[in-house]
Order: sequence, then C-alpha cells, then structure tokens
Amino acid sequence: MDLKIVCYGDPVLRRKGVLIDPITPEIHRLVDAMFDTMGRANGIGLAAQQVGHALQLAIIDVREVKNRPSELWVDEQPTDVESFMPLTLINPRIEPSGERVLGPEGCLSFPGIYAEITRPDQVSVQALNREGKPIAFRAAGLLARAIQHEVDHLNGILFIDRMDRATLDEVREDVEDLMAKTRAELARKTTDS
Ligand code: ZN
Repeated sequence: MDLKIVCYGDPVLRRKGVLIDPITPEIHRLVDAMFDTMGRANGIGLAAQQVGHALQLAIIDVREVKNRPSELWVDEQPTDVESFMPLTLINPRIEPSGERVLGPEGCLSFPGIYAEITRPDQVSVQALNREGKPIAFRAAGLLARAIQHEVDHLNGILFIDRMDRATLDEVREDVEDLMAKTRAELARKTTDS
C-alpha cells in the first residue's frame, strides 16, 4: 500500500512520536505500508511522522546505495550490514559518537532539497524490531547518518534544524516555498471537508 508522504509545513512533522506498546497488527500493517512507500520513493529511511503518524517508529534500508559505505557491529563484532536490512526501529534510543563529519542529505518530506549536514560518524542503537525483539548494535557511515536523521524525525527535529547558517541560507527560499505550498494544500483540504 502506498501512503502519502507529508511535506514540510505539515505540523505532524514537528510532533514527538509516542512510544509504541504493544506492537499491534495495525503497527505491522503500517510498517509494511511504509516500506512500500519508501521503496516507490527511492528513499533509504522513513519515519512514521512522514506518513502522518506521530509514533516512535522508523524504517531504513541502505542496500540500494552502493557508493556510500555503511558499517555495523553487534557486541563489537563486525557484522554484515545487508543481513540487518531492511531495518525497522521501534522506540529507538541512540547515542551518537565519534568524529563529526559532513555528508550530503535529502529528505522525502523536502522534495528536491539537498544539503551538507554535520553529524557524528557513529551511533549506538537500542530498539525493538518489527517483532518486538530488542536489538542493539553500533553503526557507522551512511547507516549511522540515516539512523540519526530518522530518529530526529521521531523527536520532531528536521534536517533544516541541523544545517549551519550558511547552508540554510542557500536552501531557505526553496524551504519557504515548500512550506507555503503545503500550508495552502492543508487549508484547501480543511475547506473541502
Ligand atoms: Zn527525512
């Protein structure tokens, strides 16, 4: 099932997600629909807020990106990234660490807007998977960046908040246009119903 991806200007993107407990069949259906939606949009990560639900739920799949490596450790043992994909993170807690590095980012809620963002290179993650089983691992590279971007969404934080002033100035006009367009659409929807 294809869900509508909400764009910047929709207030749900600023809402902190509520913890999921228990993991119901509705949550499973939402996870499956989010993977369909992300696949069609060629994304590598998607948070529940981006499909209109303020929940502690995000999905990630970095397998399609061949030119930006990821690394993963379980119990400090190097582990195959692909075997962890696709990744469902429910109620995740993360601890970023390591050197702060610059890297390109986009966001499905900001179509056509890309920017260089500084983030720690590594992240330790604790979460529940789709089945509700606790998982714990450490990631680096693209996967670490994607996880930090998605967990920000779960707390109502967007990549524009992570841009430095000069970078934000470069995209400001596009971001403001997007917000105006989204607000106009939302206003139209309210009048129609
Ligand atoms: Zn995003």
